[in-house]
Amino acid sequence: RAKQSHRGEYSYFTREMDIEIRERVKLLHALRMAFDNERLFLMYQPQVELATGRPVGVETLIRWRTDDGRFVPPERFIPLAEHSGLIVGIGLWVLRMACHEQRRLERAGFALRVAINVSVAQFRHPEFIDTVRQALEDSGASPSLIELEITESMAMEDSDFVSAQLHRLTSLGVTMAIDDFGTGFSSLAYLQKLPVHRLKIDKSFVHDICTDPRGRQIPETVIELGRRLGLTVIAEGIEDQNQAQALVELGCEEAQGFLFGRPMETRHLYAWLESKPNHVVFAGR
Ligand code: C2E
Ligand code: MG
Ligand code: MG
Ligand code: MG
Repeated sequence: RAKQSHRGEYSYFTREMDIEIRERVKLLHALRMAFDNERLFLMYQPQVELATGRPVGVETLIRWRTDDGRFVPPERFIPLAEHSGLIVGIGLWVLRMACHEQRRLERAGFALRVAINVSVAQFRHPEFIDTVRQALEDSGASPSLIELEITESMAMEDSDFVSAQLHRLTSLGVTMAIDDFGTGFSSLAYLQKLPVHRLKIDKSFVHDICTDPRGRQIPETVIELGRRLGLTVIAEGIEDQNQAQALVELGCEEAQGFLFGRPMETRHLYAWLESKPNHVVFAGR
């Protein structure tokens, strides 16, 4: 950005920024190596029906453990991967793995929805629809139990492309969720037109629900909005019973958070699911 300044003001291109850029270049290089050397892996976090605690789905979350055993948070490396285009390859791998996991889960008697985060660059990629179709075919996953999550800022762009892309995806049988909902500025009229199935209340609002006197307002509004538009609302980032209770009172249907289950590697996920008394197999949504 600094270089594009008309007045040639390079002064704010500080030493710290220089160091930060070098760090990012190094990290991106390491990420490429990690991806090539299969050092990335996936965790799955349960999503439950709030009123009963019954598992209804899992969200696929990527993890990177470096050679010296440290974890780099996705919030740090996903944006890098996004800007460099590396996310397209990584995202495809996530998609394939998650589809296979849906199939394995269902075979094991857990007909759960598997949610997959889709980045902007992936969503815009000309081959995205084909790769989703192919991943569904190759894995034998049940399309109705695959859910793609896109962020509110992308969903609400209000372009013919976004709307057409969502229709193409849903015509493959998958469902769509709008992630981090409430952080952007949704136009009601536009939201109503989009083929989406679920709104995910961002965890920052769940965090404020019991601490801020006005903290219930946004969750309440989103839940009401979902009800009116016929969309399921799921709240993410629920860490304690008070937050869960508040969301039950507001009529929130589904939930995801450390209170119910942390992101887990598959071997732990299956054990966790087995331990749930009501891990009933249910048909579709
Ligand atoms: P997200 O999609 O909104 O995912 C939810 C995040 O909230 C996850 O962070 C999850 O671990 C965290 N979380 C869940 N329950 C709780 C809770 O009770 N308390 C707190 N404090 N946090 C909770 P994570 O795994 O660090 O991922 C961060 C973000 O990175 C995700 O946010 C998503 O935007 C992105 N991401 C993760 N995996 C992928 C991926 O495979 N592809 C893409 N494109 N993005 C990904
Ligand atoms: Mg998500
Ligand atoms: Mg989210
Ligand atoms: Mg989030």
